[in-house]
Amino acid sequence: MQTISLSNISHPPIKIRAIRAVPLFGESPKGGWSVEIKPEDSIHALIAVHTDAGITGYGSVFTDGRLVQAGLQVLEPLFMGENALEPERVTEKLHQNTFWMGRGGTLTHTISGIDIALWDILGKATRMPVGRLLGGRYRSRVQPYCSLLMEQPERMSDVITPYREQGFKAFKIGWGPFGRAMDAKLDREIIRAAREAAGPDAKLFVDAGASDAHWPHGLKWAMRTADMLGEYNIGWFEEALKPDAIDDFCHLRRVSPVPIAGGEVLTRRQAFLPWLTRGAFDIVQPDVTKVGGISEQRRIAWLAHDFGVKYIGHGWNTALGVAADLQLASAFPDTDLVEFIGGSPYVDGILRNPFTLDADGYLTIPDQPGLGVELDPEKVGQYTPDASPLFAD
Ligand SMILES: [Mg+2]
Repeated sequence: MQTISLSNISHPPIKIRAIRAVPLFGESPKGGWSVEIKPEDSIHALIAVHTDAGITGYGSVFTDGRLVQAGLQVLEPLFMGENALEPERVTEKLHQNTFWMGRGGTLTHTISGIDIALWDILGKATRMPVGRLLGGRYRSRVQPYCSLLMEQPERMSDVITPYREQGFKAFKIGWGPFGRAMDAKLDREIIRAAREAAGPDAKLFVDAGASDAHWPHGLKWAMRTADMLGEYNIGWFEEALKPDAIDDFCHLRRVSPVPIAGGEVLTRRQAFLPWLTRGAFDIVQPDVTKVGGISEQRRIAWLAHDFGVKYIGHGWNTALGVAADLQLASAFPDTDLVEFIGGSPYVDGILRNPFTLDADGYLTIPDQPGLGVELDPEKVGQYTPDASPLFAD
């Protein structure tokens, strides 16, 4: 029988030596927003946590990378020298000591990236995948749904078909003209064309993107549109209402023939409480790169589980966000999908070994230590002026 010496169990502290962030520029995928993203805009950032043990952990944040760099300056006195093997305690320390500086905003976003990187370090140091450290793996692979922007009906086949041919069997279409053109007939035509392109057996989800600036509709539009979506076997209706319209979300969930999804713009576990206790969602979609990281996402997801709400992550912003979502998906019994944005170089183009679909259109959840993925410095260098702070020891 194999025995483990007790003296080998306890791991000495690994100290945080520096945390660096770089903004990603130039190739941010189109957002379908009313004010579209430009090449010079940064909306995604990568984070590296360097330690005195030579282990570096990586994370990702969905916001302007320059805000993350500023956030790190504020947080530095709190994280410097901390034990990188204790992600939940360290990030809770960061939350607790900065709540008066606009909690839920830039600092919460920045802490998200730090927390993901600390879990990566804990996994690398203990030689275990993050999913196991979260309590155990319910699955070793998960179905990605390919997120794509809506276009005019005659273009929907061009939007979906290339990804169907790549092997995706689940799709989400959103934003663009849907709802914004104030034309219910057009909305229906977009959905009809998308269902035809995806095929009758594919999973198809719809995202109105009502967190966009000046969303023009309210509850009545959402109710009528939900009825229409039910005719096309749509798996869920996402962000159908303005992001703070909690009463309308609760009503819509009760009357809609299709499940109601949302929550991607909420940050902090506390912000999810009224949405879960009041029954606003069938599916909750916290973004691990914004809510406070894996530590926070885990608490939100278990809370949702206990309320009978399905947790599906929204961490598609970079390959590191997807990697964190994959580990989380492995650690929750009901999380059978993960969001995967179609055609983003920040997802497909920064890893040494990019994600690949298996024959069933699933992604294997890495079982290597930590997040189980490795950044390629040269590839990352294509999307930021100087990637070296992520890799310099
Ligand atoms: Mg969305």
